[in-house]
Amino acid sequence: MNKMQNIEKIAVFPGSFDPITCGHESVIRRAAPIFDKVIVAIGQNTLKNYFFSLEQRIEMISATFADNPRIDVMHYDGLTVDFCKQLGASYILRGLRTSADFEFERSIGQINKQMYPDVETVFMLTQPEHTPLNSGVVRDVLKHGGDVSRFVPKPVFDYIQSL
Ligand code: ADP
Repeated sequence: MNKMQNIEKIAVFPGSFDPITCGHESVIRRAAPIFDKVIVAIGQNTLKNYFFSLEQRIEMISATFADNPRIDVMHYDGLTVDFCKQLGASYILRGLRTSADFEFERSIGQINKQMYPDVETVFMLTQPEHTPLNSGVVRDVLKHGGDVSRFVPKPVFDYIQSL
């Protein structure tokens, strides 16, 4: 086998991104140089009610990463590992904010590994200023008419303002 063979390293970053926050953006941008492609993958849970529609979430993620051809957005139903298999992705990227995140992610990562031994979960630490941030907080601030400009990427803020 040719050792120089070019195998694309694809990482999937799964989440609901309702909406994408500066915390998500930071993890994705810092991971992008490690992989050939990072796919921001919107997992669709039919039992969940979302604040933003799937189309709106796709639009906001696309606008955020319009400058980076290595970062794409896709959506999927079902198991993240099945989506990874379909895509030929060998890495699942996740962010770690706190020890609670670690405990949660550890079990998911270990179960995913059992279901799909060829996949590796890769963790990236959150920047300290993003540790308290999550999409739920952003939704709550929005519901009450507050300013989310510090919590979401600029193109996302502009998009939300335009709605
Ligand atoms: P969502 O909030 O979009 O439903 P999750 O909470 O599952 O999705 O987050 C998707 C990924 O983004 C997870 O790996 C999570 O750890 C990471 N993440 C969420 N918020 C932040 C943040 N503020 N900083 C860094 N990573 C984050």
